[in-house]
Amino acid sequence: MFESLSDRFSGVIGDLGKRGTLSEADVAEAMREVRLAMLEADVALPVVKDFVNKVKERSVGAEVLESVSPGQAVAKIVNDALIDALGGAGAVPLNLNAAPPVPILMVGLQGSGKTTTSGKIALRLATRERKKVLLASLDTQRPAAQLQLQQLAERAGVASLPIIAGQTPVEIAQRAMETGRREGYDVVILDTAGRLSIDEALMNEVRQIRDVTHPAETLLVVDAMTGQDAVNTAKSFNEAVGVSGVVMTRMDGDARGGAALSMRAITGAPIKLTGSGEKLDALEEFHPERVAGRILG
Ligand code: GDP
Repeated sequence: MFESLSDRFSGVIGDLGKRGTLSEADVAEAMREVRLAMLEADVALPVVKDFVNKVKERSVGAEVLESVSPGQAVAKIVNDALIDALGGAGAVPLNLNAAPPVPILMVGLQGSGKTTTSGKIALRLATRERKKVLLASLDTQRPAAQLQLQQLAERAGVASLPIIAGQTPVEIAQRAMETGRREGYDVVILDTAGRLSIDEALMNEVRQIRDVTHPAETLLVVDAMTGQDAVNTAKSFNEAVGVSGVVMTRMDGDARGGAALSMRAITGAPIKLTGSGEKLDALEEFHPERVAGRILG
């Protein structure tokens, strides 16, 4: 990635001659390329603008060492800034620092991969960290949702909260926490109902669930294919309940993952995990440097 970026920049910046530092015109040309790459990768427009302005500030007047070309110098600044903006090097683990049963609240739009990701996280915690995990579906909107989670739990080899018809999501959440305490679970994963789009009823419901469970993590699940819409989704969930981490699903697809940058910029929360397939073990740590490469193309 770095090579292709510096090649592209070399094409637009050319030779600095004896100047030794990058001029505003040099940087402006390179930033046009960056802007384009980011928009193609589906980074939200306000996030692109902000990023480009910051990189411009860092670049204009920057000294270029004799050993590198101006194109390489700008490529390094852009790449470093993008990795920074994605959360810096290194993955951020799930926060399980709370008295057990530790509640993890899963939020997101319908179809984002929330239920699948709940199953994946349960499997990972059960196998890698030997945690006793309880999965609970709070989705009373779609009749099949609770059954879907129950089947996922069976496949993951973890327990799921027995389904009782007629309970509200808040009642199910309370019952999940009580069961968790009574039966000695380490972690309770609460899979909330999604909607096709953000609405106030959904936000109220999620807020109430948060208030009765006090989650250690509130994970926003977002489809990597979501582009500009991701901004509204992230803003709404973050304002309503506060997001502590993001999971980007469908990173196995050909999306360039620009939504990762938008999510991070809007919520300030780290991207903790990525989904890379439909199977239950297709869950990976987030690597900012890899996604930076994908975004810049
Ligand atoms: P929910 O409505 O948010 O609970 O979404 P689901 O968990 O039911 O997922 C919707 C569809 O996306 C299902 O067919 C999942 O198998 C699929 N899915 C979820 N995560 C991933 C992923 O990381 N990669 C791929 N390729 N498919 C996924």
